Amino acid sequence: MPFPASTVLGYPRIGPRRELKRALEAYWDGRADRADLDRVGADLRAQAWRTLAGKGLGGLPSNTFSEYDHVLDTAVLLGAVPDRYRDQPDPYFAMARGTAKTPPLRMTKWFNTNYHYIVPELGRNLRLDATKPLAEIAEARALGHETRPVFVGPVTFLHLAGADPARLPEVLDEYEKLLSLLAAERVEWVQFDEPAFVTDVPFAAYDRLGAVADRPKLLVATYFGDADPVLPALVASPVEAIALDLVHGAVPTLPLTDKIIVAGVVSGRDVWRTDRGAALATLYAVRDLGASVAVGTSSSLMHVPYDLDLEPDLDDALRARLAFADQKVAEVVDLAAAFASGEATGPVSARGGSVVDRVSAPAVRRGPYAARRAAQERLGLPPLPTTTIGSFPQTGELRAARSSLAAGDLGVSEYEKRIEAEIERVIRLQERLGLDVLVHGEPERNDMVQYFAEHLDGFAVTRHGWVQSYGSRCTRPPILHGDVRRAAPITLRWTAFARSLTDRPVKGMLTGPVTIVAWSFVRTDLPLRDVVTQVADAVAAEVADLSAAGVPIIQVDEPALRELLPLRHSSQAEYLSWAVEAYRRATSSAPDGVQVHTHLCYSDADQIVAAIDGLDADVTTIESARSHGRILPSVAAFDRGLGPGVYDIHSPRIPSVDEVSAALADALAVLPRDRVWANPDCGLKTRTYEQVEAALSNLVEAAHRNRAAP
Ligand code: GLN
Ligand code: ZN
Repeated sequence: MPFPASTVLGYPRIGPRRELKRALEAYWDGRADRADLDRVGADLRAQAWRTLAGKGLGGLPSNTFSEYDHVLDTAVLLGAVPDRYRDQPDPYFAMARGTAKTPPLRMTKWFNTNYHYIVPELGRNLRLDATKPLAEIAEARALGHETRPVFVGPVTFLHLAGADPARLPEVLDEYEKLLSLLAAERVEWVQFDEPAFVTDVPFAAYDRLGAVADRPKLLVATYFGDADPVLPALVASPVEAIALDLVHGAVPTLPLTDKIIVAGVVSGRDVWRTDRGAALATLYAVRDLGASVAVGTSSSLMHVPYDLDLEPDLDDALRARLAFADQKVAEVVDLAAAFASGEATGPVSARGGSVVDRVSAPAVRRGPYAARRAAQERLGLPPLPTTTIGSFPQTGELRAARSSLAAGDLGVSEYEKRIEAEIERVIRLQERLGLDVLVHGEPERNDMVQYFAEHLDGFAVTRHGWVQSYGSRCTRPPILHGDVRRAAPITLRWTAFARSLTDRPVKGMLTGPVTIVAWSFVRTDLPLRDVVTQVADAVAAEVADLSAAGVPIIQVDEPALRELLPLRHSSQAEYLSWAVEAYRRATSSAPDGVQVHTHLCYSDADQIVAAIDGLDADVTTIESARSHGRILPSVAAFDRGLGPGVYDIHSPRIPSVDEVSAALADALAVLPRDRVWANPDCGLKTRTYEQVEAALSNLVEAAHRNRAAP
């Protein structure tokens, strides 16, 4: 059987209405049993195959469904289940989420996406268990679909597990068994995903897997960039088909004779319609290299929302430019037909959009740190100042008020009164606790990016555009579709209100330009750098207004600084230089006397420590609690303020005064006393007021104790 003319590398699985999320949460809370969860999974799989087949797609994938994470599924497939989870009632979810006694496996980001995978622990006793994929193949057959099972490939698996590459042969033993098993099931094609091949990971594995005597035909899928360095070896290997990401990588230049190329011309990473003429031209170019061509997506579609037809509110001009997963499937099918008929490419549309004046210097430049520090003496802060990262608990009442407002059941002024009441409560609480730098608590924000997107020109937001972030968690990325401008001040009103309530310094709270862009779907007709610069200018306008209104401290969060880091080492320095420049542009409108803070939520930041230093914020707060201060030595060289994050807000545990005091002492051991701040390691919005009150009270007491210490 030849490869089908059209396929997708994967499809969303959380459910068009987040059915899987609800089913998981019900199961975890004990409101539903295993059978209920299994039924929802089976329905979602059946629905996905029905949709794909109904749109006329040729190659249907299977095993792209997951109850939590496909990397965790691969660990289970290979028998990489650490002993400490084996005798738990539900080892799979114990690995994913932990239990009362056993912490979960680590979780981190899937390449340059916002999807998080569970980091496998290889262990010593790998042993294939193909129950899940075989069940899905059988399930699809019962519904009349012949499918191509999809797996994380061995090279990528080993890379993501952070395992010694010397262990590849052991892992390949299990993949060989898998291939034989699938052959015995008469499976025609199997897909091994190898996005690691677009990073700096070298070619391996496929000469050996290709040599397995009785096996399905192999499709090796590379995506998220070009696989150029490994491509010659992959082409020379016995694999029958290779998927190339021709959206984020270019058409290769080597001969592809006798290979099937799944040409990824429809993006799995953005929400834009495919340029039909350009895509056809790409397909012909690949054919001209001697390949037989199938049309596909650049990657799995799990990174985009399900269906544009669920979005009645988007304006027509924008809608005409958009394609979500289901629309992209239709594009793949349409392109395959056009390609087969040899349709002419037609005019390729030119890049549009306005061009940003990159060289123009921002209006105001901040002075050197020494001058800023002197100007900021006016704040009169004590040593070891205490503060928080911005958000206070998002209560059920706040969320309910926001949805009533959206539904039109609550008037704007009534809603605003509730927000003001919440701000007042947060200010009084902080005063009572004795914090030195107060925040307004961010009660008006549903999300630190969506809130700004809703208030800036050039963005649209969706109703159902949910994308899986990890497990049951989803985000709804805004769509940055046009030139970004700030029409009016956004946060000023709430920050000014908070200031009117207290004599203590209040810190204004903004999201940085890189983070706003990283957590949105972004137009592709301008270089990313220019888009980030536009957003930086909008943030700078807000910084200017806050400063002019007398706000003494402004925090510009940049937790996603690392997320846009290019996958190949060779391009990283360039990115970091313009990203840092954008941040400085965004904060350049603060006069020297206004103290600029920034916040990043992770500590395994070794790759970007120099870039963080380059942000030149007067105070940097960073996660340090969970990693036991590992970051401290590398940031000790910063000669400005540093808040290492002295307790972990991700846990409901209340840190004792002794613990916080010890964490402060650790910081004081490596940092000069006049640089250290005392703060939690991230925002408090996921905690309860009860927890926050107890924890912050201990934080303040610990800071006072360490102030008094010699
Ligand atoms: N200011 C934000 C908050 O406190 C920062 C969140 C983040 O770092 N992700 O919620
Ligand atoms: Zn954070």
